[in-house]
Parts: sequence; structure tokens; C-alpha cells
Amino acid sequence: MTSEKLERVRQILREKGLDVILFFSPENLTYLSGYTGGEGILGIGEEVWLFVDFRYLEIAQEEARECEVRLLKKGLKEVREFLRERNLKKIGLEAKAITLFEFEQLQNSAFTFMPLSKELEALRAKKTPDEIRLIKKAVEVAENALKEVLKLIKPGMREIEIAIELEYQIKRRGSESLPFQVIVLSGERTSLPHGVPSEKVIKEGELLLFDFGARIGGYASDETRIVFLGEVEPELKRIYEIVREAQQNALKVIKPGLSFKEVDKAARKLIEDAGYGNFFGHGTGHGVGLAVHEYPSLSPETEGELQEGMVVTVEPGIYLPQNGGVRIEDLVLVKEDGVEILTKLDHYIRI
Ligand code: ZN
Ligand code: ZN
Repeated sequence: MTSEKLERVRQILREKGLDVILFFSPENLTYLSGYTGGEGILGIGEEVWLFVDFRYLEIAQEEARECEVRLLKKGLKEVREFLRERNLKKIGLEAKAITLFEFEQLQNSAFTFMPLSKELEALRAKKTPDEIRLIKKAVEVAENALKEVLKLIKPGMREIEIAIELEYQIKRRGSESLPFQVIVLSGERTSLPHGVPSEKVIKEGELLLFDFGARIGGYASDETRIVFLGEVEPELKRIYEIVREAQQNALKVIKPGLSFKEVDKAARKLIEDAGYGNFFGHGTGHGVGLAVHEYPSLSPETEGELQEGMVVTVEPGIYLPQNGGVRIEDLVLVKEDGVEILTKLDHYIRI
């Protein structure tokens, strides 16, 4: 399996006339070599090397079986010397993952560098059956955790208490780490798209927003649900209905070949027509895999189209400052004939 992935990287090497590409992100290190240590530098040219420091040596040797694992003692300067000795001069860099500090350490007058971002972003886009199996497992773990937490929730609890309980339940069920800190918001705080759980006490008549996920075998899940704490005010009910319809609209149109913009439009148009366009300030979805936010971005600005095997979120929202917000987020697999919705929890939850 790894060799097929390496072949895709070598295709980029040939197209760009490069001798080697250096990868720095934990996700690409795992994807292309199997190594899960997180820190290291992966070089792919004619040969494949993984440079790690002493802390990661054993795990790298165990996991990155198709790589020559090399011990790094003095940081990137050693990689520079290594490349120079082998006369590898045209060097592609994973631009989004290297720091300026690291870049400076690599400098040598013999080298020419090419930053790569667009060229690399689609590498992990199409998921294999094994990857999809892990994502489904992550969804199951996260959803079972939320179900457990929903049993405990009652007015008077603080957002942070509920968030801690949810994180505990997610980890207890086998999540290796949290792909992101869970978001639990209530009342007017639900208008913060990526708000952080606070000391605020939840009350009857409020909305609760949960954005949460688990990580299994390196793969993340991502899902948002709204919970009604009793009867909420009419405008919040109304935006809930609009978001739900917008979300369903996007789910309906998803199929291979549809542009990212069209997916976004399917949700956005409905929200705009209802007069809430200015209150939906993010894209409709994003890819999920080893990273919780990865290519593609389903937004009005992004070029490209859906392909079979992509796993993306569909998550329109409306956020009314000082009043409240609603987002509904499902994780879906793009299939030959449409979508498979991987998240299974009901949309409408009322306590
Ligand atoms: Zn989310
Ligand atoms: Zn998301």
C-alpha cells in the first residue's frame, strides 16, 4: 500500500523536475511512511529516508518499514549535509509544515527550493476502505460518548463540566487522543462558531451546541449536534429549521464530479434566501482524515471537485451575535452514486 502512495509522490517529483521532496507534517509522515511519532523529516526521492531524533528512533524503526531510518543528532543541518553529499539539489518542501527557522537551517548555495502546497494537498484526499473503516469507528466512539453524556445533562450544570465529561467518555471508549478540544456551548454563546466551553451555567429554554470527535488508528471524526433544553425562542427555532434544510440540500447534491463551490452553494443559497447570508461566515465543509481539517475545503472560494472516496463534513450554520447560533455537521463519504452519511445520531435532540 505504501509503495502506491510513494509512486504518487514520485509522479510529483517527475512533473516538477525535483530530486527530493521533504515532508514535515505528522499527518504526511504517518500517511507516507506509517510512522506515528509525529516529529521527524521524511525525504522521498529515488530512495526514502526518515530522519528522527533519539526519542523516536525505536518507534520509527518499528513502523516505517519501507524507509531507511536515520538518527538525527543536530537537527536540520544534518539533513542539509546529507542532501549535499548525495548531490540532491532540487528540493521540494511541504510548504505548509516547515517553519522559517527550519528553512534557514536547510540553506546551501548549491540548492534550489520549491515550496509545494497545492501539489501535495490532494495526496490524502481519496480514502481507502481501511481508512474509511477507522473513520467510521471514530464516529461510533464519539457518538456513543455523546449518548452517555446526554443522559447526565440537566439545567444548572456548567458548559465546562459537560465538556470534560464528554472528553472523558470519548477517551474511555478508545479514542487515542482528541482530534480537537470538544466544543460545548449554551444559550447566546452558541453564536461563537469555535467558542471554548466556559463556566456558564446551562438553563432551561436554551440551545446547547456540541462539536466533537474521536481519533482511532490516527483517523479523526467531526460532528456537530444541537440539543434543545426544553422550549426555545421562535427565532432560534426558525434558524434551526433553515440550517437543517440547508444541510439536507447539500447532502442531496453531493456526488463525484460536483464542484466544491456547488456543494457550498446548495447550502448557502437557502440561508441567503432566508435573509441570514451575513450570519454564515464559514465554508460548508472540509475534508477529514488524519487531520481533522484537511483538503478539500467546500467553500465559495475553492476550486476543484468531489471525487469518489473523499470524506467530508457538511456543516452549514447561522450565528446571531448575542442571541445564539445553530450548526449541524455530518461526516459523509462520497460514493459513486451519491453519499453515505457516516454520522448516525439524530439531528433533533431534546432534553
Ligand atoms: Zn466540527
Ligand atoms: Zn468540521
